[in-house]
Amino acid sequence: MKPYDVIVVGGGPAGSACAAQLVAAGRDVLVLDREDFPRSKLCAGWITPEVVSDLELDPATYPHRFNTFDGIVVHVKGMTFTLSNPQHSIRRFEFDAWLLERSGATVVRHNVRDVREEGGGYVVDDAYTAPYVVGAGGTRCPVYRCLFREANPRATALQAATFEQEFPYQWHDERCHLWFFDHGLPGYSWYVPKADGYLNCGLGAMAGRLKSRGEDVRQHWQHFTQVLERDDLVTGFDYTPKGYSYFLRGDVGVVRRGNAFITGDAVGLATRDLAEGIGPAVRSGQRAAEAIVNGAAYRLDDLQEYSADRGWVRWTLERMFSGGRAA
Ligand SMILES: Cc1cc2nc3c(=O)[nH]c(=O)nc-3n(C[C@H](O)[C@H](O)[C@H](O)COP(=O)(O)OP(=O)(O)OC[C@H]3O[C@@H](n4cnc5c(N)ncnc54)[C@H](O)[C@@H]3O)c2cc1C
Repeated sequence: MKPYDVIVVGGGPAGSACAAQLVAAGRDVLVLDREDFPRSKLCAGWITPEVVSDLELDPATYPHRFNTFDGIVVHVKGMTFTLSNPQHSIRRFEFDAWLLERSGATVVRHNVRDVREEGGGYVVDDAYTAPYVVGAGGTRCPVYRCLFREANPRATALQAATFEQEFPYQWHDERCHLWFFDHGLPGYSWYVPKADGYLNCGLGAMAGRLKSRGEDVRQHWQHFTQVLERDDLVTGFDYTPKGYSYFLRGDVGVVRRGNAFITGDAVGLATRDLAEGIGPAVRSGQRAAEAIVNGAAYRLDDLQEYSADRGWVRWTLERMFSGGRAA
């Protein structure tokens, strides 16, 4: 077994952000992912200016699809707000592979099943060993399952269910659209255009609330595609959507045990209102790297819990619930 300085399980935004900082600090880093990159990841691919800044991503040199919305159209309770706050979209298929390659880490395709502590370090599937291990494997992260689940059980009340599809489409409305609580959905649906003729449409809702009403995301998907057709956003398209579930921000008390860390969706860090997880995944990955390199405390409790902590979201939500109007 070749010993590495750090093993990172999962090469999504949390894993690649962590690996990049570790490699920059001279660490020998192995990233294990069960998929070959580029790989599909169900995600609207909306990223905030904070994500762009945290990743030091220069849109001018980024070699893949990068879109900046001219406007965000918010539909709620029969009202429509148009916001001009700049936000961005990428395709996760491209973005994740680019970030992982940019990290400079050694990447091996391996479906991790077992992680155990042994002799002051960690052993992964009896094949890889390192004094540090970082769990960045998303909702089903094996580092979480093997080392953290009992100490930090996830709250089912915070589980989000999603249904979505990303596809080549010559969209003609370049704005991002969001529909809140449409048709009784306990969540929201989205239309997110990507650069050069790609589109992501989907919806997300609290799984428990859907279940308690005897509903599921498929029923809401039917309604949503009718809205897309009605509003002339997507017409005559034969969808093949897929579902995925992840956890919104819950307890972040136990995110480090010895020299094992969990990050991103492995913790459940997506914001409680808009369920944005890329930003907290990146920040948690970077903080895990700082803890390993500098001995910094690994804390996540001050990470943004609500997207509404950003001014424009709060502005929208306040008007949504007060029934006010916006330009
Ligand atoms: C439909 C949908 C839409 C979303 N839209 C947005 C959005 O627009 N903006 C936003 O900010 N967030 C969004 N999110 C949330 C966001 O996608 C996640 O929060 C984010 O991807 C978390 O990053 P991560 O690196 O923690 O995990 P992931 O991106 O899930 O990466 C985990 C990696 O671990 C690998 N892995 C898993 N198990 C194993 C194993 N056993 N062995 C080895 N490797 C393994 C996986 O292959 C994967 O590459 C959305 C989520 C969904 C489901």
